[in-house]
Amino acid sequence: MSALLQVQGLTAGYGDFQALHGIDLSLPEGEVLAIIGANGAGKSTLLRTLAGALALRSGSVRFAGRAIGGLPAHQVCAAGVALVPEGRRLFPSLSVQENLQMGAYVRRPGPWDLAAVYALFPILSDFRQRPATELSGGQQQMVALGRALMSNPRLLLCDELSLGLAPVVVRDIYRALPTVCAQGVSVIVVEQDISQALGVARHVVCMREGRVVLAGAPAELTREQIAQAYFGAV
Ligand code: ATP
Repeated sequence: MSALLQVQGLTAGYGDFQALHGIDLSLPEGEVLAIIGANGAGKSTLLRTLAGALALRSGSVRFAGRAIGGLPAHQVCAAGVALVPEGRRLFPSLSVQENLQMGAYVRRPGPWDLAAVYALFPILSDFRQRPATELSGGQQQMVALGRALMSNPRLLLCDELSLGLAPVVVRDIYRALPTVCAQGVSVIVVEQDISQALGVARHVVCMREGRVVLAGAPAELTREQIAQAYFGAV
C-alpha cells in the first residue's frame, strides 16, 4: 500500500538559518507517527512546513498521491491536512463553539462536525457558549484539536499536545486519538513527552538539529538508542 504522506529531502529555515536538513519520512494511512526530539530539534518547523505555514526550500511532500509541498496553508488544509499548533492559538474573543466553527472554514466532506467533536470531548459541550480563554489548559487543548477536526482532515498534525498540562489531562487527550484514527484520520504527534508519544504511535522518528537521527517501531527501539538519539552522543 502506498503511503498517505511521503516526505523526501525536505529543507526549510528562517532567513539565513537552515532549520531542516533533508527530512525523509513516510506515514501509512490510518497510523499514528510520533516525532520526538529535544528543544530546537526542528519538530515544530517540520509540522509548520508540512501544513504550508512555512515555505519549504527544497524536497518534496506527497500527500494522498498529490504534490502539496509549497502550497499555501489554505490549499494544504483543503487537501486534507490540519494542524493543531503549539500553544493552541485559540481565538480569545470567541466562544468554544465559535472557535470550533472557525475550523470548518475550509471543510472537506466527512464525519466531523460539532456533534462529533462534542461526543469526543463531552466536557466542551457544557462550555460551548463560554469564551474559550475561560477554559482550563487541557480543555483549551481539546478545543484546538476539535477545531482541527472540523475541517475533516485525512491527516492531523499535533504539535506538543501535552505542553504545560497535568499528566491526567494529557492522558484524557491522548485517549481520544484512537477514536480519531478509527474515523479514518492519520496522525502525526510531535512531543517532548516521550512516554506519551511512544504509547500511542506505531512508528517513531527522533529528530536532532534538523535531521532524522533515529526511526523505527517503539517496541524495536531500546531506551539507550532513544536517549542517544534524543540527546546526542555522550
Ligand atoms: P520546541 O520543542 O522548542 O518547539 P522544536 O523541535 O519544535 O523545539 P523548532 O521550534 O522547530 O524546534 O526550532 C528549530 C530551530 O529553528 C531552532 O534552532 C529555533 O531556534 C529555530 N527557529 C524556530 N522558529 C524560528 C523563527 N521564527 N525564526 C528564527 N528561528 C527559528
